[in-house]
Amino acid sequence: MAYRWPDETVFSRLELHVEEQWCQTCGSRLRVCDHRHRRVCTLQGPLHVVCRLVHCPDRVCPAHPRTLSPEAETTLAMPWWVLGWDVVCWLGQRRFARHWSVGQIRAELGDTYQIRLSADAIETYIHRYQQMLAARHRDPQRMAGVYAPVDAVILAIDGLQPEKGHETLYVVRELVQKRVWFAEALLSSATAEVQQLLAQARTWAERLGKPVRLWLSDKQDALVRGIAAEFPGVPHRYCTNHFLRDVAKPILEADSRAKVKLRRTIRGLRAIERAVLAEQHPTVSAPGVAPDPPEAQPEAVAREVVLEYCAATRGMLNDDQGGPLHPPGIRMAEALGEVRASLQRNLEAPKGGRHMSDSPVWPATSTGGCAVCRPPKKMCATRWRRWEPSRPPLTRPVARARSDRHSFRRCKRSSKAVPTRSNTTWAT
Ligand SMILES: [Zn+2]
Repeated sequence: MAYRWPDETVFSRLELHVEEQWCQTCGSRLRVCDHRHRRVCTLQGPLHVVCRLVHCPDRVCPAHPRTLSPEAETTLAMPWWVLGWDVVCWLGQRRFARHWSVGQIRAELGDTYQIRLSADAIETYIHRYQQMLAARHRDPQRMAGVYAPVDAVILAIDGLQPEKGHETLYVVRELVQKRVWFAEALLSSATAEVQQLLAQARTWAERLGKPVRLWLSDKQDALVRGIAAEFPGVPHRYCTNHFLRDVAKPILEADSRAKVKLRRTIRGLRAIERAVLAEQHPTVSAPGVAPDPPEAQPEAVAREVVLEYCAATRGMLNDDQGGPLHPPGIRMAEALGEVRASLQRNLEAPKGGRHMSDSPVWPATSTGGCAVCRPPKKMCATRWRRWEPSRPPLTRPVARARSDRHSFRRCKRSSKAVPTRSNTTWAT
């Protein structure tokens, strides 16, 4: 659909002339026979391009019916495009190098360059950009330049299937210069179809004049046979990624079972939280009477601590990230071990902890106790990566925390105390 320019658009006018002045067939002077008007979006603003078209005026000259256009026109924009090359390159760079979404690109084009485009128009131009890029990537001259310092190439092929039943996209890559050579979507992974791709890879290698030192692929039958047929004598190694994935399978399965066991052991977080929250309902104070300051409410602090223990524990139980080298179940056991140790330290702490002499709110009648008693803040991040295999998995950590709530009542806390090793006997 033609681009509809807003009525108030102001264009800069640019006239383009054909570079040749004389007919290459008969030598007559070329004459202007028509004008082509184009309006193009550029990053410098809207452009009105006037191309002066010429032809040979001699009616008997065989070149007479041919109309010539200025070559400079295609350096501004391709035929029928409304976007200049600079805008198309800008789009492609933002999309593929900066990973901007189409919406972001659209907003930025409108805000900064006053170029209004629909989302599907931007998608169309991004697709064109990809085609241009692929064409440049496959350009034989450029390829020859890239592969000039290489003695031999190492090729790999693999298929990517977005969903079952969809076409499989087969990608042929070269691993020495780390380039994707080409990709083709195949309806079936039959030997004959895959063979065509391998033949194409052979043509490419021959065009570059480089021997193939090695092939890498998975053990798909069509690939194994095809490579043996198309590249006789070239070693074929199976992909280590697939190999490792298969080896890791039993580890991940065992880890998954361990996680289920751990989760089964630790139950009742919700009930504890509900009980704490029920106690936490704000007390309705009489009008004109200010509520007690937080430091005067040790029980509120204690409840907060219990909730933090619950939140930390829940985070650990829901952690599913990590592959076979960092199994999530091991991390979970390690983290829960730290929670258990933290609670244990709290229980074993002497009842008359150190006073915080700098605290202005320390009551004279206080029996002392801990300054702060909280679960380790960073338990979910780095600290709980320490694995202590000697510790058995935690048995009911939070239930213990709750039953020990009376001990929290002894705690006093300064208004802005932060748990650190220096000012608390309980912090981990
Ligand atoms: Zn002529």
